[in-house]
Amino acid sequence: MSAPPHASSSFDVAIAGGGLAGLACAAALARRGLRVAVCEARGVLGGRASSQIDAVTGDAVDIGPHVITTEHVNFLALLRELGTDAQVHWQRQPLITLLDTGLPPARRVLRMRRCDWPAPLHALPNLPQALRAVGWADLLSGLRLGWQAARLDEAATLELDDRDALSHLQALGVSRRMIEWFWRSAMLALLNLPLEQRSAAAMMRVARLLMGRSGAHFGFPRIGLGELYVPGCVAAIEQAGGVVWTDARVQRVRLRDGRAAGMTLTDGRELHATTTVLALPPAQAAGLLLQEDGAAPQSLAGHQGWGDLAERLRPVPYVCTLLWFDRPITQQRFWARVWKPGDLNTDFYDLARIRGGCTGRRCPVVPGGQRHRCARGAAVAGRAQRGAHAEGDRRLHA
Ligand SMILES: Cc1cc2nc3c(=O)[nH]c(=O)nc-3n(C[C@H](O)[C@H](O)[C@H](O)COP(=O)(O)OP(=O)(O)OC[C@H]3O[C@@H](n4cnc5c(N)ncnc54)[C@H](O)[C@@H]3O)c2cc1C
Repeated sequence: MSAPPHASSSFDVAIAGGGLAGLACAAALARRGLRVAVCEARGVLGGRASSQIDAVTGDAVDIGPHVITTEHVNFLALLRELGTDAQVHWQRQPLITLLDTGLPPARRVLRMRRCDWPAPLHALPNLPQALRAVGWADLLSGLRLGWQAARLDEAATLELDDRDALSHLQALGVSRRMIEWFWRSAMLALLNLPLEQRSAAAMMRVARLLMGRSGAHFGFPRIGLGELYVPGCVAAIEQAGGVVWTDARVQRVRLRDGRAAGMTLTDGRELHATTTVLALPPAQAAGLLLQEDGAAPQSLAGHQGWGDLAERLRPVPYVCTLLWFDRPITQQRFWARVWKPGDLNTDFYDLARIRGGCTGRRCPVVPGGQRHRCARGAAVAGRAQRGAHAEGDRRLHA
C-alpha cells in the first residue's frame, strides 16, 4: 500500500486521510464504480480509530477504547456492507455500571438499565438508582433543560455554540449536585471535555439524544477496531480500480479557478482528480487549502467561521492506558466512575471479557482518561489501576 514511484496519476476522486472518514467515503464511492485514491500520511490506516498488536503480549489493542452504540447508524451500516457487523459484541443489560465512590460502600455500584419504553419514559426504571446518589430536588432541577432540549431545532442549537455547557446548565437552574454527579460524568465520557470547555450546543445535542431515544445500548469490537473496517474498505477500493497509499502525506490541494483539482504530496507527486475530499481534522484540512500566497481561496474567504476554524475546532487530547492483570478483576465488560475533582479516568473496558482474551495469564483492561491538557501517562496509569483493580490481583504489563 506504499505509494508507487510514478510522478502523476489521475483518479475520479482523491481523498486525503486514511482514517475512518476517508476510508468509509472511499469505499462508498468505489461501490458506485468510481476510481478513488486515498493518501494516508502515516504508515498505518485507521487514524484515530486504528489498532495495533501489542509487542509484549501479542494482543490486538486499539488506539484507545471505542464504544459503539446503536445510535452509530452510519458506522453500523458500513460494517453490514463489509460483513463484519457480527464482530460487535452488544451489551443489552445493564446499560452501564457506574461506580460512585462518593457513596457508602454498600450503595456505590449503580447498575443503570436499558429500557425500551417510549421516550422519555425509558428513563423511569433508573430512578431508584439515581435517587441513591441525588435527591428529588436535583432531578427536578433538570426540567427546564429537558423542556428546552425537546424543543430545540437546528438553528436554536447553533445559537448555543458560543456558550459553554456549564454556564448553560447553571442558567437553566440545574442543581450543583446534578451538574457534578450526572452532567460532568456523562459529558466527560461522551464528549471528552470538561463542561467549561464544551459548547452548550454540543451538550444539548447529546441531551436530545439521551432524552429522545429509548433502547439505545453499547457494543464493543470483538476484534481490533481497525480490523472491523480497514481491510474491507481497502478491498472495496481496490476492486474498483482505486488505490490506498500509506506514507503518502498531502502537502497541498491544488486549486484551479477556486476549485480543487487534485493534490500534491510532500514527495512531489501529483494526483489529478475531478473531485477532492479532505477527510482530515479541521485544522489540518484548513492548512492544505491555502493558496500559494497563504490566503484562503476566494470561494472560502467569505465563508462564515473559515478564519477561526482551526481555533474553534481544536482536537481533544485523550490519554488511555492499557493494563494487563494476572486474573479477571470484575464481572463487568465495562464500567465508569462518576466524576470526582482531580480524576483523570472515567471509563474502563475489560478486553478479556469483551474479546474472550483472558488466558488466566493475562487480562487486559483499558481505562480511558480524558483531560483538556495532556496528562502524564504514569499518573493516569496509577489512577487507572486504583480505579480498576481488585484485592490481590497483580498488574503484569502496562
Ligand atoms: C482514544 C479514542 C477513543 C475514542 N472513542 C470513541 C468512541 O467511543 N466512539 C466514537 O464514536 N468515537 C470515538 N473516538 C473518535 C473517533 O475515533 C474519531 O472521531 C474518528 O476516528 C475520526 O476519524 P477521521 O477519519 O475523521 O479522522 P482521523 O482518524 O484523524 O483520520 C485522519 C487521517 O488523516 C491523516 N492525515 C493527516 N494529515 C494528513 C495529510 N496531510 N496527508 C495525508 N493524510 C493525513 C492522519 O494520519 C489520519 O490517519 C475516539 C477517539 C480516540 C482517539
